[in-house]
Amino acid sequence: MKEITGTILAGKSFDPIRGRVIINDGRIEAVERANTESTDIILPAFVNAHTHLGDSVAKEAAVGKSLEEAVAPPDSLKHQQLAGADQSDLVSAMRRTLQFMEQTGTVSCLDFRESGIPGARALREAAEPLSIDPFIFGSGDSSVLDIADGYGASGANDDDFTKERAACRDRDVLFAIHAGEPDATDIHPALDLEPDLLIHMVHAKQEHLTRVAEQSVPVTVCPRANAVLDVGTPPVRDLLDHTTVALGSDNVMLNPPSMFREMAYTAKQFDVTAREVLQMATSAGAEIVDHDVGVIAPGKRAALTILDGDSNNLVNSADPVQAVVRRATGLDIKRVILN
Ligand SMILES: [Zn+2]
Repeated sequence: MKEITGTILAGKSFDPIRGRVIINDGRIEAVERANTESTDIILPAFVNAHTHLGDSVAKEAAVGKSLEEAVAPPDSLKHQQLAGADQSDLVSAMRRTLQFMEQTGTVSCLDFRESGIPGARALREAAEPLSIDPFIFGSGDSSVLDIADGYGASGANDDDFTKERAACRDRDVLFAIHAGEPDATDIHPALDLEPDLLIHMVHAKQEHLTRVAEQSVPVTVCPRANAVLDVGTPPVRDLLDHTTVALGSDNVMLNPPSMFREMAYTAKQFDVTAREVLQMATSAGAEIVDHDVGVIAPGKRAALTILDGDSNNLVNSADPVQAVVRRATGLDIKRVILN
């Protein structure tokens, strides 16, 4: 049994409670109010809801390039670098990125893994010795589902994914697809596939939002990646008003997968509350893949990030939720517990 004391951002609303989290056998047994001297801030570990960890071999290699030149299949710079990468170099590069994510308080990521079965295997191998637990959306032939947790389609304009969608339904696993990144033309075709998750939706209009709500499809937005690739800004407020919205850092090539950076950017660029942003970075992604994390509540897996509320950066903050979302950095982390 373990006890962690401080200001706890408890439940789905993150109402700050002064007290303790009691952990037993890797699970949260109780969240209790209590007097404590501790200035620590305890929050759920993050779920990064969209990554491309394979890009770990090509960090900052595409600075100044367009979406097409940087990441679009099959001939972009990213795909050239992936094709040229030695398998063991790729595994160790992805492992280093996963370790960075652990250090910065992330317990899971929803990764779109390129390169079919070998690609999915390489990510499993990279994560094997670590506590972070990536959910792998595989690519290529639908037999990738023997290894991956679900299927991640590049986009409805790139190929016909009817077969892969059906294969996911047969196996009762998730089918996710990019939509509305450079423009809106692939959004209706993506929705026609009845996906379990849409990525981006930068160019979503009311007709798309209505369908998203009708079909109850969650959406992952990646605002920093959209900014780097200059494809526009996603309608985060409108999306939140229609469905579950999660936050992803997207290509490791373009941005470090730090949820602190993604949260601060999102909170300051969009008409959203700090609580909404913290949900987008924790419980929303966990719900999409049905992982038992992202909320501090009895019975949940104890995956926690503990910040030093008395750090040079966080001391004197008026509100712990605002401080976590808008101000905190990896330097403020005291401990990450990923049971
Ligand atoms: Zn992506």
